[in-house]
Amino acid sequence: MKVSVIGTGYVGLVSGVCLSEKGHNVVCVDVDKEKVEKINSGIPPIYERDLEELLRKNINLNLKADTDLFKAVMETEISLISVGTPFNGDKIDLSFIEMVSGDIGKALKEKKAYHMVVVKSTVVPGTTDEVVLPILEKFSGKKAGIDFGIGMNPEFLREGEAVQDFMSPDRIVMGAIDKKALGYLEELYRPFNNVDKLRTNNKTAEMIKYTSNSLLATMISFSNEIANLCAVIGDIDVVDVMRGVHMDNRLSPIMPNGKRITPSITTYIEAGCGFGGSCFPKDVKALIAHGKQKGRPMLLLDAVIQVNQEQPLQVVDMLKKHFPSLKGIRIAILGLAFKPDTTDMRESPAIPIVKELLTQGAGIQAYDPVASAEAKKIFTDYQIQYCDTLHQTVDNVQAVVLLTRWEEFSKIPSLLADLETQPLFVDGRRMLDKELIARYEGIGL
Ligand code: NAD
Repeated sequence: MKVSVIGTGYVGLVSGVCLSEKGHNVVCVDVDKEKVEKINSGIPPIYERDLEELLRKNINLNLKADTDLFKAVMETEISLISVGTPFNGDKIDLSFIEMVSGDIGKALKEKKAYHMVVVKSTVVPGTTDEVVLPILEKFSGKKAGIDFGIGMNPEFLREGEAVQDFMSPDRIVMGAIDKKALGYLEELYRPFNNVDKLRTNNKTAEMIKYTSNSLLATMISFSNEIANLCAVIGDIDVVDVMRGVHMDNRLSPIMPNGKRITPSITTYIEAGCGFGGSCFPKDVKALIAHGKQKGRPMLLLDAVIQVNQEQPLQVVDMLKKHFPSLKGIRIAILGLAFKPDTTDMRESPAIPIVKELLTQGAGIQAYDPVASAEAKKIFTDYQIQYCDTLHQTVDNVQAVVLLTRWEEFSKIPSLLADLETQPLFVDGRRMLDKELIARYEGIGL
């Protein structure tokens, strides 16, 4: 199929590259000229495992990037909208979606053939039918269901695993206004023939995405609330508590051969310094705001956000148990990205933690295997020494704070053991074995 992907960020680029790898002819459109040039020269603007290899393999064959949306719509059969949908502090900000819808509408006005428009961005229920569709009709002067089709196809890829998730998804949700529109989505996803597909209307497709993210965010805040209680009761380690919970046969089933399988869902029932990233915080907040607007306050989700906003400061409290004043205390921060295997710093718990430590007068040296460049853009007005190696980071500090579960950090116990004076170690992710570290503090301990 001839496919245009409008908005070439995390979702758009990964979708575009992977759909070209699956045999479609793809043009990725973005307003960012620099991004487009990079992509056309085979350089992905973001870090994702295997992305560069697939991009280089397909670019200039059945994949290209362009800034010209009009041309892209004219030359393709189906357009996927994957622009950002941030939370503006009050509700979901649909301005990018609205702008792109208007531009697609203008192209449809000139286009003779039927065209399919698919919303891939995460949007609150009703957006595709009640915002995108009317804009398309207004600007094209044409009719949905006759001259063009419209659908909603939420994306479930996880940053850090994006290529793998897109190439071998756990599900494909296809919302559409009618059979003809659905047929285009069926054709788009034909190469994914062994994947479970759910066919539904656009509003339900939109709601599935929010419900998935809200459930995972709830599990994290639930675990963190339990962890914080364990810590104040004393003599309880939340890691053991959660291990006991995970052993529930319904969470980690015992197979007929007697072996237990540990589904990855259990990683959401673990204590930590909170969730971040470009999706969970903004999506849960957007759903809460949408609920309010519909006269249905979301009491549980309100609490999920509140717990998460307070959680990063648990790390600061643990440091203050040992250093009542942080003034002049030198602290190593391990991990800046909101999770491992990504450069993404959006809403990373490292942001409020580092800012609070600096405000309280601590000196910060930080290390992240890939996210330091992104961090520099965020901490522009803050004095942070960025280190190039793990070894250099933990040297000459009074405390070491782990904030991201990077695999590389499993070397920490042996690195610390080699130091002459032992710094305090604060495990914001409960990643390391407390028995292997001399001065260990952790969430929920
Ligand atoms: P992003 O900010 O990384 O990318 C958006 C891109 O759209 C940018 O490159 C921007 O330049 C481009 N853009 C903005 N206006 C444009 C226009 N008028 N025409 C063309 N391009 C334009 O966003 P993202 O993280 O890829 O997220 C996109 C959507 O997918 C959001 O709704 C998000 O919630 C959802 N989503 C994201 C993830 C994720 O892990 N990042 C996962 C699932 C769903």
